[in-house]
Amino acid sequence: MKTYDSIVIGGGIFGCATAYELTKLGQKVLLIEKEYLGSGSTGRCISGIRQQFSTPETIKLSMLSVHIFKELHEKFGIEWHQGGYLFLASSQSQKEKYLELIKIQHQMGLQVNFIDPKEILELVSCFQLKNIVGASYCPTDGQANPFLVIQRYVEQIKKLKSEISTFTKVIKIQKNHTFSVFTDTNDAYETPVIVNAGGAWAQEINKLVGAISELPLQPERHEALVTEPTKPLFDPMIVSYDPSCYFQQLHSTGQIIGCYTPDSSDKGINRDSSFEFAPEFSSRALKIIPKLAELKVIRSWAGWYTMTPDGNPIIGETQVPGFFLIGGGSGHGFMLGPALGKVLAELICKKPTSISIDEFSINRSFEGKEALK
Ligand SMILES: Cc1cc2nc3c(=O)[nH]c(=O)nc-3n(C[C@H](O)[C@H](O)[C@H](O)COP(=O)(O)OP(=O)(O)OC[C@H]3O[C@@H](n4cnc5c(N)ncnc54)[C@H](O)[C@@H]3O)c2cc1C
Repeated sequence: MKTYDSIVIGGGIFGCATAYELTKLGQKVLLIEKEYLGSGSTGRCISGIRQQFSTPETIKLSMLSVHIFKELHEKFGIEWHQGGYLFLASSQSQKEKYLELIKIQHQMGLQVNFIDPKEILELVSCFQLKNIVGASYCPTDGQANPFLVIQRYVEQIKKLKSEISTFTKVIKIQKNHTFSVFTDTNDAYETPVIVNAGGAWAQEINKLVGAISELPLQPERHEALVTEPTKPLFDPMIVSYDPSCYFQQLHSTGQIIGCYTPDSSDKGINRDSSFEFAPEFSSRALKIIPKLAELKVIRSWAGWYTMTPDGNPIIGETQVPGFFLIGGGSGHGFMLGPALGKVLAELICKKPTSISIDEFSINRSFEGKEALK
C-alpha cells in the first residue's frame, strides 16, 4: 500500500490550501477529490474577499488570508484585485452598529472608514439606492478567481512532489495504528493523518471513520448568477441588507456576479437552480444600480454554505487521533481558506500557529451563539 504523511479529502479551497501548506512544511501529501477541483462550493462562490469581520480573531484570520492571496498573486497570478467592500447602512442604528465594528477593526490595524452618501457616489457613480445613510468601506478588501487560486495551489503541490487524485471518491476508512483509505477507483493508501475537507459532505466522510459524534455542520443551498461582461462600472463589492443582496463587478472580465441570502434556508445538498432566483436577484440589484438593467444574465447556479451554529469555520483534531477537520466555510470560506489551511497545517505539524484559533476550535461551545450568513 502506498503511504503518505497525510491524506486530504476534498479539492475545494480548504483542502487545497491545507495540502499546499502541509507540503510546504515538508510533508508528502495525497489530495483526493471525488469530482474536479473546485467542483464543490469553491467553484460556485462569487469571489469576494473581505476583512470586515466583527471579532479580533476573525479579523486577524481574514487579514492573514489577504496577505496570502496577495502573495499567491504576486508569485503565480490569481486575478487578485483590491476594489474594496461597501457595507451599506440604511438606518441610523445600522450606521451605529458599523461604527462599533470599525472601532474593533481599527484596533486590529485594518483600514476601514464609514463614508457618507456623497462619498459612495464618488466610488460608485451609477449608485441610486435611496435612504442610504452611508457605508462601511474597506479599500483593501477584494476579489480573486477561485478556479485560478485552486489551480495555482495544485501546481505548487505537484511541484513540491505531493500528489493529487481527481474523480476519485474516498469510500472507506479503516483505523488501525494508522489509517487505510480506500477509493472507488480500487486504490488503497496508508497514512497517519487524514484531513476531512469535504465541505457539504464532511458529515458523510466523518461517518466513514466511525465512533465519533456528529459534526456541527449543516449545508444550506445558496444561488448565484453572472451577467455578460460590460465596461468598468464600479469597483467594490456592494453588500446591502435592504434589499438583501450582494454583488460586484469582476475586474478581470467585467461581468457582474452576485447572490442574496434566501428568506428560508434550504438545508441539505441540493444543487438545483430555481426559476425565482434570477428575476428576484435582478429586481433587488436594480434598486441599487438601475443601469444593470442593460445587462443579460448568462449563467446561474447553486452551491452550499456549510454552516456551523455560530457561523465561524471549524478546524482541529477530532476525537479520533490523527483525523482532522477543516469545515464550516459558510458564506466566507473562500476568503478565509488560505489562512485556515495554513494554521491547520501548522497544528498538524505541531508548529506554533500563526494566529490563535480558539474561536474556530473544534472543541468550542456553540451555546447561545447565532450564525450571521
Ligand atoms: C452562491 C455562493 C456564493 C459564495 N460567495 C462567497 C464569496 O464571495 N466569498 C467567500 O469567501 N465565500 C463564498 N461562498 C462560500 C464558499 O464558497 C465556501 O465557504 C467554500 O468554498 C467552502 O470550501 P470547502 O473547501 O470547504 O468546500 P468545497 O469547495 O465544497 O470542497 C469540498 C470538496 O470535497 C469533495 N468531496 C466530498 N466528499 C468527498 C469524498 N468522499 N472523496 C473525495 N472528495 C470528496 C467535494 O467534491 C468538494 O469538491 C459562497 C458560496 C456560495 C454557494
